[in-house]
This record gives sequence, structure tokens and C-alpha cells, in this order.
Amino acid sequence: EQAKRANAGFALFQGGLDQECAQHLTLMGDLRRAIDRNELLLYYQPKVEIASNRVCGTEALVRWRHPQHGMLPPDEFVRLAENTGLITPLTLWVLDTALGQRYAWHEEGDERPISVNLSAHDLRDPRLLERIQGSFATWGAKPHWIEFELTESALMEDPVASMQTLSALKELDAHLTIDDFGTGYSSLAYLQKLPVDSLKIDQSFVTRMTSNDGSAKIVRSIIELAHNLDLTVVAEGVEDQLTLNQLGQFGCDIVQGYRISQPIPAEQFRDWEVRSTWH
Ligand code: C2E
Ligand code: MG
Ligand code: MG
Ligand code: MG
Repeated sequence: EQAKRANAGFALFQGGLDQECAQHLTLMGDLRRAIDRNELLLYYQPKVEIASNRVCGTEALVRWRHPQHGMLPPDEFVRLAENTGLITPLTLWVLDTALGQRYAWHEEGDERPISVNLSAHDLRDPRLLERIQGSFATWGAKPHWIEFELTESALMEDPVASMQTLSALKELDAHLTIDDFGTGYSSLAYLQKLPVDSLKIDQSFVTRMTSNDGSAKIVRSIIELAHNLDLTVVAEGVEDQLTLNQLGQFGCDIVQGYRISQPIPAEQFRDWEVRSTWH
């Protein structure tokens, strides 16, 4: 079901393996130029704090407006970027663009953070930290402007390097979230040592929690675990009111999903907020 949804409208990589490789090669060349040609853009998805009904931040999600293939979701090119050494420029573009948006919102008196996703590869890049610091300095950014999301599976690819990078980011006073939590096999001992502030429950559990008792139990357990470790807990993939109500009953802190809003361009954010029932 999820895979079907992910592939809907994107028939790009269908066909045989050779064809797939050829398409990857072309796309890789395209991606190299995409940044300079201004073809990448960020959509922002609101995060809502359940207790106050307030929008407490947004997550920046990258898109690629490809001249031939149309709007591509990150699943179509982030992996490609990771495998071809293009992930660092992509991450830095995302961070810099998010900081620019954050600066504009700051000028409007809005202090809510923007979350930026880092990839597994970023965690192993020793120069990344310096570049992040440079980007922050350029915008005169405060540490709370940006939060970083790292998937549990990315952290587990290289637990030692991840721990070092996370500690260094923490030294910059950044807020850190483990994304897609529950799918990455981290041990509780490791989790307890990580300098993170929140856990984001993987959407595969959240979208099923009202129809599948097992998923509901996992969601409840993650919420309890997070709170026992003094972490804030976020649920992603909240698609309907029933799920939202149940998450409230379970004590979840923050929600994100189509029930609240799809990811939207920054220009639409104010309008959306005025019209929405979240304030
Ligand atoms: P993620 O960080 O876990 O983001 C959540 C994904 O779920 C987003 O897909 C979002 O549009 C989608 N989503 C949000 N609400 C709902 C909902 O209610 N139901 C369902 N079914 N889906 C929902 P998107 O934007 O296609 O991004 C997919 C993944 O690509 C992200 O997962 C993240 O891991 C990665 N990604 C996105 N932007 C970046 C980026 O700038 N850098 C890196 N390294 N990865 C990125
Ligand atoms: Mg994320
Ligand atoms: Mg996620
Ligand atoms: Mg995900």
C-alpha cells in the first residue's frame, strides 16, 4: 500500500535493469546541474503540538522540478545523490535555503524552528560540521532556528561516527530528532547514550494504528519509551482525526501529517495558517 503510494505518478524507473541504469546516469548528470539551475525547491510541512493545538514548527522536504520528468519526490533522487557524492552539495543547499526562509520568518517575528533532514552519508562527512557552522554564520542564525532529523537506520549504519557527529551538532546547541523511529534496530543502550531531544515514530506504525492492534501497541510503547528517556515524541503520517485523537490519548506530544497539512511551498504557509484551525 505504502509502496504503491510512493510510486504513484512516478513511473520513471520502471522497465528493465539496463534501462534503469541509463536513466540513473542521465538523472545523475541532471542532478549535478539542478542546484545551479535552481531546479530544487523546499516544501514545508507543519508540526502541531497536541496540547496547545499550535503549529510549533515545520519540516523542510526537498523536491526537484525536473525539466522533463516534472516534480520528483526525494525518494527518486536522494539515494542517487548519496551514491554519487552529490549528497553534501544537496544537504548544504537544503540547509542554506531553509536558513534563508528561516531568516525571512524571523524578520516577521516568527521564531518557530525548521527541521532539516540529514542523510546517512552526511554523518560520515567530517567536513560537514564546518560547512553547517559556516552556513549558520552567513545567516546570523541562532541554534534554535534549525532542527536536524536523522533516521534511525542512518544512525545504525555507522553508530560510532553517528555518535561523534551528533555530539558535535549538540555542541552547537542544535535540536536533534531520530526520524523513522522503530524501523532501524537501535539498541536501547545506544539510544540512551545518543544526545537527541526527540523521537519521531515511523509513519508505517502511525498510518496503521487505528486498524491494526499491533501497530497501536508499538506506537504506545514508543511514546512511553521516549517519555521515560525524557524525549519529546512526534508522530508522522497522521492522516485522519481518529488517529489524531488516539495519539492524544496515548500522550503523544507533536503530530505531523495530511490530517494537518501536506507539505506546502513557503509562499502558501501564511495563508494556510490563517485558514487552518491550528493557531
Ligand atoms: P521523512 O523525513 O520521514 O518525511 C516524511 C515523508 O512522509 C515526506 O515525504 C512527507 O511528505 C510524507 N508525509 C507527510 N505526511 C504524510 C501523511 O499523512 N501520510 C503519508 N503517507 N505520508 C506523509 P517526502 O517529502 O516524499 O520525503 C520522503 C523522505 O525523503 C523523507 O522522509 C526524508 O527521509 C527524505 N528527504 C526529504 N527531504 C530531504 C532532504 O532535504 N535531505 C535528505 N537527506 N532527505 C530528505
Ligand atoms: Mg524527516
Ligand atoms: Mg520519517
Ligand atoms: Mg520516512
